[in-house]
Amino acid sequence: MDPDGYGSERAALTRYREAPATYFGVGHFDEAGRLAEIIMDSECAPASGCPHPAVVVHAETFQPLCDTCSFGLEVLTVPELAVRLGVAVRLAPVLAPSGRHAAPDETCTTTNRIARELQSGVEDPVWRMQLCTELARTPGAVNGLLIGVGALSHRDVLDLYPALCALGTQLPVSIYEDLQRATGRPLSPAGVAALRLGI
Ligand SMILES: [Zn+2]
Repeated sequence: MDPDGYGSERAALTRYREAPATYFGVGHFDEAGRLAEIIMDSECAPASGCPHPAVVVHAETFQPLCDTCSFGLEVLTVPELAVRLGVAVRLAPVLAPSGRHAAPDETCTTTNRIARELQSGVEDPVWRMQLCTELARTPGAVNGLLIGVGALSHRDVLDLYPALCALGTQLPVSIYEDLQRATGRPLSPAGVAALRLGI
């Protein structure tokens, strides 16, 4: 968790839930950088807005599903999924709805806005400059950068690559150095973002 900047699995899950991207859960990596455990999100089929906690996954798509939504479908239990994937899997604790929509602190607000605006803003030099100023002031909001860059499609990355590289060179030094280190783990969210930023 630490190398990606997430203080806890809860923090990582919260960020991913707010990101405009499809995801399954978060990974816990051991000291050698190996995937030790997958913490599967406990939201049922996130796009549908079903309020029940997921308990199984669809056997083909691995989409998390609750008891009701999985009715009649071919599913895997979490232990069966772990066997299939060859890595430990457990369900994330259910987050209280009030937790997801409670008044966020400034870091959280900034993080979410950066994630949301990245795709449309990154080509604008003024937006990039403002982003770097915000990141210097609120380094915790770097997660918004990781989420926003991570959510880009491959096509977006190609189209926006010059702007992404420009942003990479403009980042505050401490963030740039963290991202540079993250390239050693190219499949981590920070590693993906670093490479997409030309670092
Ligand atoms: Zn459901």
